[in-house]
Amino acid sequence: MASVNIYKVSQKILGNCIQKQLWRSYATAGTVSSFKAKDVEVIKSNSLAPKPDVGKLKFGHHFTDHMLEIEWTEGSGWKQPKICPVHNFEIHPGAKCFHYATELFEGMKAYRGDDDKIRVFRPMENMKRMLSTAERSCLPLFDGRELVELIKQLIFIDAAWVPRATREQPSSLYIRPTMIGTEPTLGVNRATQALLYVLIGPVGPYYPTGMAPVKLLADPKFVRAWPGGSGNFKMGCNYAPTLAIQSVAEKHGCQQVLWLFGDDHQLTEVGAMNLFTFWINEQGDKELVTAPLNGLVLPGITRKSLLELGKKWGEFKVTERDYTMNEVVKALNENRLLEMFGAGTACVVSPIEGILYKDEMLQIPTMNNPVITNRCMKELLDIQYGRTPSDWVEYLD
Ligand SMILES: *Cc1c(COP(=O)(O)O)cnc(C)c1O
Repeated sequence: MASVNIYKVSQKILGNCIQKQLWRSYATAGTVSSFKAKDVEVIKSNSLAPKPDVGKLKFGHHFTDHMLEIEWTEGSGWKQPKICPVHNFEIHPGAKCFHYATELFEGMKAYRGDDDKIRVFRPMENMKRMLSTAERSCLPLFDGRELVELIKQLIFIDAAWVPRATREQPSSLYIRPTMIGTEPTLGVNRATQALLYVLIGPVGPYYPTGMAPVKLLADPKFVRAWPGGSGNFKMGCNYAPTLAIQSVAEKHGCQQVLWLFGDDHQLTEVGAMNLFTFWINEQGDKELVTAPLNGLVLPGITRKSLLELGKKWGEFKVTERDYTMNEVVKALNENRLLEMFGAGTACVVSPIEGILYKDEMLQIPTMNNPVITNRCMKELLDIQYGRTPSDWVEYLD
């Protein structure tokens, strides 16, 4: 246990240090060396692709006609931003991103409302997270506001691709900002050349089965993140190692992995989503609980939004704390466990019906009465599609 405490302390120091630096660069965004949205060069495609059928959208399979691209070198900083036709890259095979995964990404969405207006959900939150990941990856910083303005211009140009959603088919435009280290040298060190680019594409529901509940494999043998590691940053190197575990889960008839941590089997995340548990706690209070931002979970914007909504409703306790499988099993046995769900941009909310833990499939009663799961889903979608006015959305201009 002593070693765990040391980890916790060092994580705190690392966290503070990164946080402070990020804040400095962010606060002085105007003075940080950055590309500027007003300098953008727009090269329009003269062969527009046919739009896919909205009913058949598969997550991440479709891209619009244009992309955004900005090069950076240590010597001369950011080049002029370019909105251009989606195209293949020509990158030297020695580029650092291909060897040491000097790569980061973001995931955000734009929604076409019933009023035909296009809304982007909390994009500056994604920029803050992208900058913190850039810092952790030794990739260059920039002014997040400028990138948001460029993304809006890109969406405006490809606006015909932003699908018209229905309540049954909550389709939207997925936005994938990415940054890679392109310096073609094999030393394990920071890249002195980088490329920031943004792809966008229409998406349907993340799970083709819609709100169908999922089963999770919870095997403490497998760990996604650890104190002092990088699990709280959205960098590609965190995801490749999870694919094999995902297929172990599928072999056991589960759709996702429930990532546990520590000797006490703390619940951290589910797949690439944050995890929420709604129960009656041991004190007899209704409580919505999720793991804290202690370095083991990705600071999700859906997570943050649901915590803020839950507190605003004021109808139950809303808590960020460590909690363990023992507590979940005990609550289940005492009929205090009500709902569990994953939360993230791609799926919004994903109800959980079972957890395979120690060779036993625990039946999670979420779908018996998914009051909080449904409410979280509905209230977020209502904001995103403009049915509920909110300052969480930004418009294209
Ligand atoms: C992206 C991601 C989330 C969800 O974050 P959102 O900002 O809500 O989309 C949660 N966990 C992991 C591991 C992620 O990569």
